[in-house]
Amino acid sequence: MRLARIAHPQGFAFVEIRGDDSDPAEQVCAEISEHPFGTPEFTGREWPLGEVRLLAPILASKVVCVGKNYAEHAEEMGDRAPAEPLIFLKPNTAVAGPGSPIAYPPSSERVDHEGELAVVIGQPCRDVAAARAPEVILGYTCANDVTARDQQQSDGQWTRGKGYDTFCPLGPWIVTDLDPNGLDVRTVLHHEDGTSEVRQDGNTSQFIHTIGEIVEYVTRVMTLLPGDVILTGTPAGVGPMLPGDRVTVEIEGIGALTNPVADRA
Ligand code: MG
Repeated sequence: MRLARIAHPQGFAFVEIRGDDSDPAEQVCAEISEHPFGTPEFTGREWPLGEVRLLAPILASKVVCVGKNYAEHAEEMGDRAPAEPLIFLKPNTAVAGPGSPIAYPPSSERVDHEGELAVVIGQPCRDVAAARAPEVILGYTCANDVTARDQQQSDGQWTRGKGYDTFCPLGPWIVTDLDPNGLDVRTVLHHEDGTSEVRQDGNTSQFIHTIGEIVEYVTRVMTLLPGDVILTGTPAGVGPMLPGDRVTVEIEGIGALTNPVADRA
């Protein structure tokens, strides 16, 4: 099932997107009554996908991120792979939807993309054993852990560099019933002159810590609530973006999340 959150002509809704995902014209958004957790109920209202705007697919109370979960990325940052997951938080106000601009803050001279697989939690949970992690996961989406790299390095901790509004694009939708093992994770940068470059090309089989291990580690520290999001780390190839670029995070079995980069107003 593909779960999304949309703006439609009458308001906002959680929906299931139905139809052939290779043909946007044939897809419809079926409205879910209230929230998408548990077994969703449907109201019967539908809108064609082409007539709505996709929003960030979930409202998170917190976004937990794992740093350095791919060995080659740890190396490019001049570090060893950590023995335990290295976790940090992004504020939920950093979340942005598909297509909405990443606002480049004037205080930074280097803003990087980090394409990542995001885990969306489906129920309140704590102390979840790794083997039980699938029971508390609603599904998976694409994320961009946008980072003001200069401030991450100069501040000595990461709250500012990772925490700007719009620094956590999520979407375009949540895919349930997805095996998160062995998925390609690619980040492509599209420049204003029409050229594009594949910046990151990894696979979740390269994870240092598995999703089960991450869920176990995080839920030993904090209770996770329905809609909370865990970003599972980025593959090698992080690099700078500039206003005018568009950045796409593409994950096999999910889809593509594209955001323009713009100067902060
Ligand atoms: Mg990251």
